[in-house]
Amino acid sequence: MTPSNPLNALNFSGGPGALPDSVLQQVQEAIRAVPEVGLSILGISHRSDWFAAVVAELEDNIRRLMGLPADYRVLFLQGGATQQFTMLPMSLLAGRSEPADYLHTGYWSGKALPEARKVGPVRVVWSGEAGGFGRLPADGELDFNPRAPYLHYVSNETVEGLQFHRLIGRDDVPRICDMSSDFLSAPGDYTRFAMIYAHAQKNIGPAGVTVVILRDTLLADAPADLPAFLDYRAQIAAHSILNTPPVFAIYVVLLVTRWLLGEIGGLAAMERVNTAKAALLYRALDDSDGFYAGHAAPADRSKMNVAFKLPTPELEATFIAAARAAGFSGLGGHRSIGGIRASIYNGLTFGAVEKLVDFMDGFRRQAPRP
Ligand code: PMP
Repeated sequence: MTPSNPLNALNFSGGPGALPDSVLQQVQEAIRAVPEVGLSILGISHRSDWFAAVVAELEDNIRRLMGLPADYRVLFLQGGATQQFTMLPMSLLAGRSEPADYLHTGYWSGKALPEARKVGPVRVVWSGEAGGFGRLPADGELDFNPRAPYLHYVSNETVEGLQFHRLIGRDDVPRICDMSSDFLSAPGDYTRFAMIYAHAQKNIGPAGVTVVILRDTLLADAPADLPAFLDYRAQIAAHSILNTPPVFAIYVVLLVTRWLLGEIGGLAAMERVNTAKAALLYRALDDSDGFYAGHAAPADRSKMNVAFKLPTPELEATFIAAARAAGFSGLGGHRSIGGIRASIYNGLTFGAVEKLVDFMDGFRRQAPRP
């Protein structure tokens, strides 16, 4: 097998992001030939029995990892998380007079809002915009509508590095969550969600596939005349193979779920690693005398994306260049807020975070003070 590329191990990109080395090695092999088929993964028909088994095993792995009962459907769709911003209201909001509840906690929840508004009425329950999306709301700030068709929120704001560490919403209103950037990173009470969606390119694979998990009953009143591609019911009936699906991306996600179950040992074990990585990195921020200034309020700090600033934009540019020269990549902050962002998804090891923290300590000690 081809030796690993050491630069992959230090890829702190916000997404597509780092994948486990053992998965990347199997992917290389599969490009040549999937062991049990003898053909390249890039040339295997989506109508083959082998691919049907891939989809079935992947669905089963996700059910096992998340503890999902039989009344949940698991779909593998295209169009990214962005397509869900539209597909969801088309099924659950069109023609409704009562507005859906939406939280506006950062860049990505903000992208879902205008798309929903094109389809039906929306009420913003809480917005962090005036506060520069530096924190998440406390329970006392959230006044949910018991008649709302659903509540939509983003569990982890990828850009700002804000993560809900508790469940919000009411159990009598369908709770719908974009978990794109913290999917399968920790165990949770997932049956309290009516729908969860997450694209693959952060924690579980390459771009091209989005996992959608939804409870059967959610679609009871969906309009009958939706385009089939955008109708969850048609996708369910076709077992995610309504048209040619992204065979390669789905296969890589399968390999990642096998890694989670077999090598890591499930989501509780994954969470322990993710918590340790985040604690190490936030400690480097907290012990830096303000040199590395974290963006998120400490209570809402994300275990997936650590966004911070240096004293000046010039120092940030020097930091990124020096980090690149030392083998790190993907550390530039999102274009909407600038600064630095270290994304520490499932595939990134504790050892990689140790290396980054060492680099940050060294950089801080030799940096000129403004
Ligand atoms: N939601 C979240 C939380 C994201 O982080 C992103 C992209 N980074 C999106 C939605 C949009 O995803 P996509 O590019 O797959 O449409």
